[in-house]
Amino acid sequence: MQGIIRGIDPQRRIVIPKETLMAAGLEAGDLVEVFSDADTVGRPIVSLVRYTPGCCLCGEKTTAVEYSGRKFCEHCILELHSKGGATT
Ligand SMILES: [Zn+2]
Repeated sequence: MQGIIRGIDPQRRIVIPKETLMAAGLEAGDLVEVFSDADTVGRPIVSLVRYTPGCCLCGEKTTAVEYSGRKFCEHCILELHSKGGATT
């Protein structure tokens, strides 16, 4: 697969082609997380991943569920429940 070649400007910024963003389902106003890594031979890889907020207390994402417009993970729900006292 041939990539689209873009230059990095003096401020170390790069414009990602609209076609690339559209193919990834990303729209203007979306939030993305930027990750950097290296491949098996040490070449740099920069990845953009659509940002999905995690637990509003600890940031954990895998078990976070939304409640009243905010996300909470299973661990924090249990901790809040134990500190708040059960009414039953
Ligand atoms: Zn949490």
